[in-house]
Amino acid sequence: MYFSKSFIPILKNNPTEAKIKSHQLMLRIGMIKQSAAGIYSWLPLGFKVMKKIEQIVREEQDRIGVQEILMPTIQSSEIWKESGRYEDYGEEMLRIKDRQNREMLYGPTNEELITDIFRNSIKSYKSLPQLLYHIQWKFRDELRPRFGIMRCREFYMKDAYSFDINDEEAFFSYNKFFLSYLRTFKRLNLSAIPMAADTGPIGGNLSHEFIILAETGESKIYTDKRIFEVKSDDTKIEKKSLSDLRKNYEKFYAVTDEKFDKKEFDEKVSDEFKVNTKGIEVGHIFYFGDKYSRPMNATVDFQGKKEFVKMGSYGVGVSRLVGAIIEAKYDDKNEIMKWPISVSPYECVIIPLINKNDKSNLEKANNISKILKSSNIDFIIDDTDENFSSKIKKFNLIGIPFQIMIGNKNEGNTFEFKEIGNETQILDIGKIIEIIKTSKK
Ligand code: ATP
Ligand code: MG
Repeated sequence: MYFSKSFIPILKNNPTEAKIKSHQLMLRIGMIKQSAAGIYSWLPLGFKVMKKIEQIVREEQDRIGVQEILMPTIQSSEIWKESGRYEDYGEEMLRIKDRQNREMLYGPTNEELITDIFRNSIKSYKSLPQLLYHIQWKFRDELRPRFGIMRCREFYMKDAYSFDINDEEAFFSYNKFFLSYLRTFKRLNLSAIPMAADTGPIGGNLSHEFIILAETGESKIYTDKRIFEVKSDDTKIEKKSLSDLRKNYEKFYAVTDEKFDKKEFDEKVSDEFKVNTKGIEVGHIFYFGDKYSRPMNATVDFQGKKEFVKMGSYGVGVSRLVGAIIEAKYDDKNEIMKWPISVSPYECVIIPLINKNDKSNLEKANNISKILKSSNIDFIIDDTDENFSSKIKKFNLIGIPFQIMIGNKNEGNTFEFKEIGNETQILDIGKIIEIIKTSKK
């Protein structure tokens, strides 16, 4: 891709309406464009990042055996009346009438719809567990949409649902997602901590929010810093190993303000380990038993009886993660973004110095791009005739992890090369390819 032909509308200065750095950067480098309050279009740069995040989320769901489906965004009010949430959900739900005057809604979440799908198809406990997910747009008419795509009205979410015969099996499912979330956020280069969360008004037993630390986060968090040292690498997908993993986390105090109790914090955490800061919620897992299966009559045959299935739900804010990664990785003082290569919009940028009458550096860039292409490295070439330093500045802002510079100094097959934020090195193209490939592993 040539920069001159790309759709990357960069702004000269930070947009004044944006209050936090992710919102500023996303507007500044043209990742998104607001179309109405809390509703955004995703432009190529933003969309590429979101798709890469989505793919990692998907792979980690598949890895624990969750099956992918796709439910619609528009739902009928009937099932929400069955569960009792049509009234309860309140103003956050966008309600619509179709031409037959039927009450419809834009789904804010999918417990009712998935329960309806389940109850019509699964009849025996022998088909359990069922673990299903989809990645789909949601709409919540938030009172105060803010911070760009971090708290917006239309957003992209992965939501999964589990169906089991009893609590023991349901906890096993829950713990699979617990591990899967740790793996997902790790692949995104984020350190997310699972924190005990409120289970909401209707009972429920068990819930964790996954939070990444960020000064601009909306959740206040109180935790023991040793929780950051807990390892999950050798966890096996079996009951004992997974339940030990959760215990290893739950040993340490970690809550958001809803569950905060100062006395408990002081008792359980000595001053040297106390962390009291802010964070961004990027995922939320929830066990709620028969909260939906009972009113909606979702049962399976078990030993001659009909049993209500035990359910959990598991959300990841796929679009919010784009902002969360920026909050974690953007150095706004120096205007350098460092995308983890796993989600970076491009893996490498080639920056040739181009003089009006001399296109030889552009030719060299084209030759290098062929080598990158054959090595499966995703690149962009800055073919504009801006000066070198403004090109470098621009790509520091965009945050492509590797930069190959072609000035007038390079000789033969060696080029100026740098990993973003590090020193420039002079390397031959073979070595450059090797470094980029190694970083992708
Ligand atoms: P919050 O407390 O931030 O409103 P929630 O508890 O309502 O979140 P869930 O219903 O658990 O969120 O949704 C799952 C995930 O979807 C959240 O962890 C978050 O990452 C994301 N999410 C929720 N609401 C929004 C929103 N308005 N904009 C963007 N992402 C959102
Ligand atoms: Mg909410």
